Amino acid sequence: MPMQALVYHATGDARLEERPLPQLQAPTDALVRVTLSSICTSDLHILNGSVPRARPGIILGHEFVGEVVETGAEVRRVRPGQRVAVNVETFCGQCFFCRQGFVNNCERGGWELGCRIDGCQTEYVRVPFADNGLDALPDSVDDLSALLVGDVLASGYFGAELAAIRPGDTVLVIGAGPVGICAMLCARLFGPARIIAVDRRADRLELARRMNAADTLIRAADGMGTADMAGLVRELTQGRGADAVIECAGEAATFELAWQAARPNACVALVALYEAPQTLPLPHMYGKNLIFKTGGVDAVHSARLIRLIELGRLDTRPLITHTFPLGNIADAYDVFAHRRDGCIKCAIVPQPGAAPSR
Ligand SMILES: [Zn+2]
Ligand SMILES: [Zn+2]
Repeated sequence: MPMQALVYHATGDARLEERPLPQLQAPTDALVRVTLSSICTSDLHILNGSVPRARPGIILGHEFVGEVVETGAEVRRVRPGQRVAVNVETFCGQCFFCRQGFVNNCERGGWELGCRIDGCQTEYVRVPFADNGLDALPDSVDDLSALLVGDVLASGYFGAELAAIRPGDTVLVIGAGPVGICAMLCARLFGPARIIAVDRRADRLELARRMNAADTLIRAADGMGTADMAGLVRELTQGRGADAVIECAGEAATFELAWQAARPNACVALVALYEAPQTLPLPHMYGKNLIFKTGGVDAVHSARLIRLIELGRLDTRPLITHTFPLGNIADAYDVFAHRRDGCIKCAIVPQPGAAPSR
């Protein structure tokens, strides 16, 4: 029986189609039945043509949870019947980069699912290197709680870790979207005194406050320049600026704010996926001695994140504001891309056996 799948064809063109069930191709593969997937901003980046690596013909989607239905002969850590969180990254675990935890640059993988190979906006997914890409979920962690573990929450944790936060620090997080709020929740784990959130949208800032992710909110109102906002951050920090900055918004203005609002010698972590090159005006920042770190997530902390969710230290459920059946995924993309109706994240529920809608 075929399955429904959202297939990427070209810039601006993705269609719900019938695809055959995937088969194992290597002894390290597993077949996972999707129980819940999501749409990520990176899917939008693929659709608007800013991910040149993306391969036409693949099924979109890279953030999901599911149940293992079949494993190759060399898979040891998971078995059929187990519920799992799936890592956005496919990595071998053995190459030069993997051995140092830099799995995003795995010589045999990286961001593959929903980009180079078939992803999760469908019913079944072949997951290569299943021992690395799958993490078993305890019964007490439901699908909704674990949905963001493999990508957005991993990216938030990655940003918080890159920013080298120390107890008592003031952390500035730019962007209160899914990754931004996850970065705030994870920054908390490192013991800062205060987390400042910046965004244009009041509803997103309010959500950050409700989730206890941010302590101080700065709304970037129309006509406010980055110098004004950096000034507000300095007012909150005895004129110094933030001790650590995590930039999650990915625009020219937010890139500028990131270094302007940082105090001298701060670490500026850039985890956003920019659609255009940015300029570092080095003459203006000479002597400020900033540390810049850029990154596509090295998603190596899934087990740690699952444990934190299990113990109630991380809860990303409020970020999932909308749920759609797979057959209506076009509507989900529309709501998510245009942030309609306060949408932060959409969950997609597969309907096994349903015919694709045309
Ligand atoms: Zn993503
Ligand atoms: Zn590797």
